Amino acid sequence: MSELRYDDRVIVITGAGRGLGRAYAELLGARGARVVVNDPGSAVRGEGIDAGPAAEVVAAIKAQGGDAIVSTDSVATPEGGRAIIEAALDHYGRIDGLIHNAGNVRYGSMQALSQEDFDAVLDVHLRGAFHVARAAFPHMCKARYGRIILTSSIGGLYGNRDCVNYGMSKSGMIGLNNVLALEGEAEGVKSNIIVPGAVTRMAEGLDISQYPPMGPELVSPVVAWLAHESCSVTGEMLVSIAGRVARAFIAESKGVYQPSWTPEDVGARIDAIMDSQDPLVFGLEGHVDHIRYSFGRAVAGE
Ligand code: NAD
Repeated sequence: MSELRYDDRVIVITGAGRGLGRAYAELLGARGARVVVNDPGSAVRGEGIDAGPAAEVVAAIKAQGGDAIVSTDSVATPEGGRAIIEAALDHYGRIDGLIHNAGNVRYGSMQALSQEDFDAVLDVHLRGAFHVARAAFPHMCKARYGRIILTSSIGGLYGNRDCVNYGMSKSGMIGLNNVLALEGEAEGVKSNIIVPGAVTRMAEGLDISQYPPMGPELVSPVVAWLAHESCSVTGEMLVSIAGRVARAFIAESKGVYQPSWTPEDVGARIDAIMDSQDPLVFGLEGHVDHIRYSFGRAVAGE
């Protein structure tokens, strides 16, 4: 198997000054990519600016003979998103890959979370994804090539207590990924989601003494493959946690067809409706296939 290379590919990575983003940047930089290391160096809650972390990653990539530049703009505004992508265009004249990885955390229950903490997390994770993707996408379409990787989380797929802002952002990423994959399909642009798990500063305060090895280097090969031209999937979600790599997907039960329903019918048939054996998995054109399937059942009357 020959080594996957990224020579001359320009890849922007948000939040690349630390943790997972840093591991992605160093792996891609070591394999020939020109990396825009974006990170304002904020604290875990997303406050403050420190150019140090991004500069350190750029120095590490250069020390290995690679090529990288620093961007300290924040993904949290449309102007910031544009500036991050323009850094790639101004310096390297192109953009081939975008990994939106930047993240902050602000905890609070549904009853206690402040509006400010709600917005601050949506701004970085979810709106931030839109800001950078919107700035990069037209350039990728024009070049008829692009790889976009968004970052979700177990908390986005399944929810978690005390972080509705984070969970909403991370599940919202699925909607963005679907549309980028659909609109990018004919343009040579692929978009996928990584669902990572790794011990980083985000694990501060957790008891990790019983955790198996969970370094960011277990996740970065998966992201690197998604960022490579040979990546064969789009609109997908790959989980990478503690050495296990898997596909996450949305599925439906086969469902129950009746030509008409009453609320009582729903109650009477709920077990059959919920029966999830042999689930249906609709792919990239799921919105079309889904309607086709439902209409087909209606036409067949079963
Ligand atoms: P981290 O805190 O080590 O890294 C996140 C980086 O994002 C930081 O360096 C921070 O400065 C940067 N950042 C914050 N606000 C930013 C902004 N406005 N613009 C640009 N950059 C900004 O955390 P991590 O664990 O490496 O997390 C990386 C991503 O992976 C996040 O999106 C996180 O939600 C996600 N994730 C992590 C885990 C995990 O187990 N570590 C699990 C699921 C999802």
